[in-house]
Amino acid sequence: MTTSVYEPERFRSTEYLAVLDETESTSQLSIPASCLKKIRKEGEAGYPHEICGLLIGNLAEQGWTISEVRQVDNLNSERAADRFELDPAAYQRIDRELRGSGREIIGVYHSHPNAPAKPSPTDLGSAWEGFAYPIVSICDGKASDLRCWSINDAGSRFQQIRILETA
Ligand SMILES: [Zn+2]
Repeated sequence: MTTSVYEPERFRSTEYLAVLDETESTSQLSIPASCLKKIRKEGEAGYPHEICGLLIGNLAEQGWTISEVRQVDNLNSERAADRFELDPAAYQRIDRELRGSGREIIGVYHSHPNAPAKPSPTDLGSAWEGFAYPIVSICDGKASDLRCWSINDAGSRFQQIRILETA
C-alpha cells in the first residue's frame, strides 16, 4: 500500500491510533495569531528537523490562554527528523524567570516534518497532564496543518482541543 509522504504509514498503525481519543475536549487553546505565525515560521526554518518550544500564559477552567511562545533547542541530534528533546536547562531558566509574574509554562509545541499534526506514541510517553501540545505539520518545508492536543481525563490518550485564534 502506498501512502503520502505527509501521512507516513505508521500513523495508521494500531500503535499510533491507540494514542488518540476521538472525542474532542471542551477546553480550548486561546492564542494570539502572532504566536501561531511564530510557531509556523520556526517549524519552516527548522525543517527537516523537529523544532520545539514552550507556551507561556495562564491555565483556567475553560482552557489555556497563551500570551507568549518561546522556542528552545531540540537537543536530540541523532533523530532530529522525528524526535525532539526539549533543552531542560532552558526550561528551568524560563520557569524561574516567570516565578511571581502571574504567568507560567503551560504547554509545549513541536513540529512534525513531512508528517501529520497528530501526536505519536513517543509524544504520549513524554506528555504531562494539564499541558497543551500544539503540533505543526511541515510539508516539504512549508507549514500546513496546526492542531492542538492535551491528555484526556483518564490520562491515557491525546484529545484534540479547539484553537481560538485571538488578535
Ligand atoms: Zn511529535
